[in-house]
Amino acid sequence: MTADTVPEPSREIPVFARAEVLVVGGGSAGYSAALAAARHGAATLILERCAYLGGMTTGGLVTNRDYAGPDCPYKAVGGIPFEVWDRIEVAGGGLRPCPERVGSKDEKDRRYGQLFTTGPKDHVPDAMIFDPEVVKVVAETMLQEAGVTILLNCWFADATVEDGVVKGVMFECKEGRRAILADVVIDATGDGDVFARAGADFEVEFKEATVNFRVANVDWDAILEQLEHDPEELERMWGEVRRRFNLRHGQWRLANRRGISNVNTNTDEKTINVLDTRELTRTAIEMRAKNYRLLNFLRESQPGFENAFIVESAPMIGCRASRRLKGLYQLNEDDIFALKSFDDSIMLGACFYRQQSESLPADRPPYVVAEVPLRCLVPEGLDGLLAAGRCISCTFEALNWIRDIPFVMSSGQAAGIAAARCVQDSVHPRDVDVTKVQAALDALGAPFHMPR
Ligand SMILES: Cc1cc2nc3c(=O)[nH]c(=O)nc-3n(C[C@H](O)[C@H](O)[C@H](O)COP(=O)(O)OP(=O)(O)OC[C@H]3O[C@@H](n4cnc5c(N)ncnc54)[C@H](O)[C@@H]3O)c2cc1C
Repeated sequence: MTADTVPEPSREIPVFARAEVLVVGGGSAGYSAALAAARHGAATLILERCAYLGGMTTGGLVTNRDYAGPDCPYKAVGGIPFEVWDRIEVAGGGLRPCPERVGSKDEKDRRYGQLFTTGPKDHVPDAMIFDPEVVKVVAETMLQEAGVTILLNCWFADATVEDGVVKGVMFECKEGRRAILADVVIDATGDGDVFARAGADFEVEFKEATVNFRVANVDWDAILEQLEHDPEELERMWGEVRRRFNLRHGQWRLANRRGISNVNTNTDEKTINVLDTRELTRTAIEMRAKNYRLLNFLRESQPGFENAFIVESAPMIGCRASRRLKGLYQLNEDDIFALKSFDDSIMLGACFYRQQSESLPADRPPYVVAEVPLRCLVPEGLDGLLAAGRCISCTFEALNWIRDIPFVMSSGQAAGIAAARCVQDSVHPRDVDVTKVQAALDALGAPFHMPR
């Protein structure tokens, strides 16, 4: 032992389970990957550090789906994402704008549409607000129906690598340190914890961190009334909130149940290193206190918030960017604006707040949709491993095209299908027959090439 280090004795770690496909991280990308792998015949296990699935959409209280409705110029996602959203809606956990206002470009309607989305602002989008509690149950139910083994409260600790092949992982749980062996591991941790520990190359950059919170007892009728008759005052108020509290996007959303009148308030602040435990801790504490100051200001200043109170602050700090895999291909903005097509494309991504490009042909709709090759999911120098979600291989700029919820679900879906294919054909991800993956995506109605 030294003043700065302690030795860890070498030890044998008990194998807790074996799987054909192991997904680490149970966010939108992870549970989509597990569902796809299991449905394509692989014995699948998913491991998650929280006591629930959903990642940012549950623990981070990021509760809105943008960009994916039929109002969008391209059908940008298909398969599992729509199946999940339909299940959420059937379970009473999805709130969408009134159908008669969807698509409207009328100014009043557009302001109303912004209560549902951060996405397209030129019309009322067919967005959806989720109830995070319903998302948890829907994800668990769908995975159980597909035969996926779910392990919650398990923190990934290390990767087991032999001769450049990831053979499984080690994790910490109540029983101590345990191992899982797998034919293919999918890193869906958002932060790329698995590929980082396995020794893959990666890049790291951060965006603003956020602790979302939900507020109850808001009088939404008062707010909708103001939206109808004095929208300028409402906008002025939110400008004031952003100014006073130093927020880039202070904003609120209708929450899922009008009866209880919840809102989500997105309190973006500074860019922090989300891979630094002390900084994460400090930020969580500061932001929770700031959220109360913000609520108090709203109670004093915004009609409808007089009796509001915080019912929940997000258990997980909202993180938009951290590690990104260096894969066999790195998606970049030049590809995106050149509308580059890839033979091995497995999904489309989109970024609706970076809509315009001078290089876009005039006959194209103004939304830039990107093809994403399977190679962005495959590490350069490691076998037995795929990435899914916001940590796939792309530049920091291109991240904006693949990190939103519909698109991390698409990369999860493709990773799950590719992993199951690897098991069936006894190949590593870099050698998988992408035409078989694409055929499976086609069968699900999941688009992966831009319409020609
Ligand atoms: C504040 C904020 C607002 C946003 N707004 C929008 C929006 O309006 N619309 C939109 O579409 N997108 C939005 N996004 C982006 C979107 O929410 C995320 O990019 C997306 O949800 C990421 O999905 P993921 O599955 O890749 O990662 P995550 O959802 O982060 O899932 C990763 C999972 O891995 C688990 N995990 C991590 N490390 C470990 C470990 N060591 N062991 C075990 N498990 C682990 C986590 O607990 C988590 O469940 C927003 C993001 C933030 C932060």
